[in-house]
Order: sequence, then structure tokens, then C-alpha cells
Amino acid sequence: MVITGECFCGDVRYQINGKLFDARSCHCSRCRKAFSSQASSYALVTPSQFKWISGEHLLTSYVGEHGFGFRFCRQCGSTLCGVYNGEVQGVTLGCVNGDPQIEIGRHIYVGSKASWEVIPEGVVQYEAGVPDTKKA
Ligand SMILES: [Zn+2]
Ligand SMILES: [Zn+2]
Repeated sequence: MVITGECFCGDVRYQINGKLFDARSCHCSRCRKAFSSQASSYALVTPSQFKWISGEHLLTSYVGEHGFGFRFCRQCGSTLCGVYNGEVQGVTLGCVNGDPQIEIGRHIYVGSKASWEVIPEGVVQYEAGVPDTKKA
């Protein structure tokens, strides 16, 4: 399958020739800051299946202390993807177009959620991480 995504202004676009996997939402304080939201919403990609279609020159990035970072559109501020060692490892679900045929499978670090967030009933949730959880 082919999945596309773009930022808020639409000038940065990407394509994934494959599937997303391990969609998750992390409610820790760091993800709240990184995603400017109540939680992250993020899925992994196979790095070799990801490519930028347009606007790559508009990307800027922030890399945190553990080598994991994000890339943003510097025109509109959308966070498009997560990078590790310079390679795109995953995408923010908010920038994915249409139906990527995946749902958030688990909510992690719910024990650290913001006081103002109400977690919907019935979602798979964990107080902290789960053993096979990667960052973000
Ligand atoms: Zn943009
Ligand atoms: Zn987190």
C-alpha cells in the first residue's frame, strides 16, 4: 500500500511504500511537549520505504539527548516524523492523509498523563511502557 502525509501548510509531503506498524500514543510529559498535545500519536515505518516528495528543504529538526528527534515544517510548525541517527523511523499520525489502515493499539505511560486529560474507556492502556516499546 501507499501512504501519504503532509504538514499543515501542505508544502512538505512524504510517501510511504508500505505499511505503518505499532501505532501508539504515549502520555508521558516529554511526549506532551514534543507533540504539543495530550499525548503522542505515532506509528513506525520501515525506513527504506519512506521518502520525501516535496518540501524537504523546509524541514528543520530537533534531536534530543538520546539521538532520537523530530522533523518539522519550518513554515507551519507541523511535526512530521521521528528520526533516529538521521533516519526516519516513524510518522506522526496527525500528518498522515486518509486512512492508513491502522489504529492506535495501546496507550502508554498513562500513569503520567496530564491532570486535565480524560482517557476514553475501553482503550488498551499501560501505566508505564511495555517491554517492546521504542521511544515516543
Ligand atoms: Zn508546512
Ligand atoms: Zn512519551
